[in-house]
Amino acid sequence: MPLSEAELLLRLPDRLFIGGRWVDAENSNTFAVFDPATGQRLARIADASPADGLSALDAAVDAQEEWAATAPRVRGEILRRVFELIQERRDELALLITLEMGKPLSEAQSEITYGAEFLRWFSEEAVRITGRYGPNPEGTGQMLVSQRPVGPCYLITPWNFPLAMATRKIAPALAAGCTVVVKPAELTPLTTLFVAALFAQAGLPAGVLNVITTLNSAAVSEPIIADPRLRKLSFTGSTPVGRILMRQAAANVLRTSMELGGNAPFLVFDDADLDKAVDGAVAAKFRNSGQACTAANRFIVHSTIAEQFISRLGAQVADMRVGRGTEAGVTIGPLINDSAVEKTSDLVQDAISRGANLITGGHSVDGPGSFYEPTILTGVPLTSNILNEEIFGPVVSIVEFDDEDEAVRLANNTDYGLVSYVFTESLARGERMIQRLQTGMMGLNVGVISNAAAPFGGIKQSGLGREGGAEGIHEYLETKYTLIPNG
Ligand code: NAD
Repeated sequence: MPLSEAELLLRLPDRLFIGGRWVDAENSNTFAVFDPATGQRLARIADASPADGLSALDAAVDAQEEWAATAPRVRGEILRRVFELIQERRDELALLITLEMGKPLSEAQSEITYGAEFLRWFSEEAVRITGRYGPNPEGTGQMLVSQRPVGPCYLITPWNFPLAMATRKIAPALAAGCTVVVKPAELTPLTTLFVAALFAQAGLPAGVLNVITTLNSAAVSEPIIADPRLRKLSFTGSTPVGRILMRQAAANVLRTSMELGGNAPFLVFDDADLDKAVDGAVAAKFRNSGQACTAANRFIVHSTIAEQFISRLGAQVADMRVGRGTEAGVTIGPLINDSAVEKTSDLVQDAISRGANLITGGHSVDGPGSFYEPTILTGVPLTSNILNEEIFGPVVSIVEFDDEDEAVRLANNTDYGLVSYVFTESLARGERMIQRLQTGMMGLNVGVISNAAAPFGGIKQSGLGREGGAEGIHEYLETKYTLIPNG
C-alpha cells in the first residue's frame, strides 16, 4: 500500500545528520518547510548554527583517512546499495520531492531516475581511478602519477532538483574517497535528509556523509569555508552566490566547482523539423515549470517559420494543466514560492512594456500556492530584462532572426554559457553550431540532454568544473607525482 502524505511526513528525519547520528541543532532551533502548491507547512526541521556546521566538518575530517583507505570496491558497493534502496522507495521519494518542490509526480519520478543514476554511475567509476608509471625522459628514474582523494568537501545544493543536485555531488565525492558535509537549500531540504537515511541503512561509516539544514546558509557556511581542514567546495546555485563563495574560497586557495546559472538560447533554423522543435521547446522550457538552469531562456527563431512554430507551440501550451503536482493530469506545478511568481510576473510585464506581444498566459493564478500560467511572448525587444536574466518560470520569449550569423550573435550575447539548443536538419549547420555557440553543453534537435554518463557544466559565468561522466570524479581527486630514482 502506498504511504499517504501524512504518513510519509510523520516518518521523515527532521534533525541534522552528523557523525552517523541524528542530532538536534545545538540551540534546538527549527524552521518550517512549506508545500509551494498549497502554502501549507510540511515539516519543521533542525536549524543548524555555525557551531553545528563546524561539528559536521569535524565529523567529516575524523572519517576522512579511513574512508580514503576503504577499498574502492567497498565504496562503490555502498553507492550501489543506495541506488537500489532509492528504487525500492521511489514512490515515497517521488511524493516527497513533489510535496516540497512542487513538480508533477511524473517529473519527480524522472528526477529519481536521473538522480539515482549518479549513484550507479559513480559506484562503477570508484574502481576505475587509475594512474601512470613510466621512465623519465632522462632514463634516471620512474615517474609515478597517482590520484588521491581531495579530502573533506562541502557541498551546497539548490532547491530545484532536490535529489539529483545532491547525488550529482555526493556520489563522485564518496566514490573518490572524500568525506562530505552537505547543505541542501532551505526551501527543499527534506529529500536530502531522506537520502542520508538511505546511506545510513546502506552501511556508510559514520562521518563520511553529514547533512546540515539551516535557514542561515551564509552564517553557517562561512566558517566551514574558512576552515583550513576543508579541501573542496562544490556549489550549485545562482551566479551571484557563486561569486560570493569564490571570494570566500580564495582566502585558503580552496578548490571549487561551480555549477551556476544559465540563459540558454534555443535556436530554430528554417530547415528544422518543427515537430522536433516544438517537442524540444516544451521539454526545455516547461519541465520543472521552467525552474532549471538548463531551461531554454531565449527562443531565437528564423523569421520564415516563426509563425508556424508559435502556433504549434501555442496549441501544446493550451493543453497544459496547471495544478498541484500530486493531482493526476497536472503538467505544470507551482513555482517555488510567491517571490518567484512576482519575479516572473515582473519580467513579463517589463517585456510587454517594451513592446513584446503576449500570445497566451501572462498572469499568476489566484488561490493558495505559487502558480504562474504557461506564457508565450513574441517580438521580445532585445533590451528586455527577460532576455538578459534567468527567468526560472514557464515563459517562452521569442525573438526572430534572418541569417545564421545573426542567430549566433544573439545566442552568444550573454554572460552565461551553460547550454544551448539547436534545431536544424542540416548536419553541417549542426556542426557549425557546436563550434560557434559559447556553451559547455548543446542539445542538437533535443530539449533535455542531462545524463549521469555525460559531463554537465558551463563556461563563462555559468561556472567551473563538470559533474557526471568520466570527468565528474576528477573534481574530487588530486594528482600526485612521485619520482623514484633508479636503484
Ligand atoms: P541560490 O544561489 O540562491 O542558492 C543555492 C544554495 O546556496 C542554497 O543551498 C542556498 O541556501 C545557498 N546559499 C545562498 N546564499 C548563500 C551564501 N551567502 N553562502 C552560502 N550558501 C548560500 O540558488 P537557488 O535559488 O537555490 O537555485 C537556483 C539557481 O541555481 C539558478 O541560478 C540556477 O540556474 C542554478 N542552478 C544551476 C545548476 C547547474 O548545474 N549549473 C543546476 C541547478 C540550479
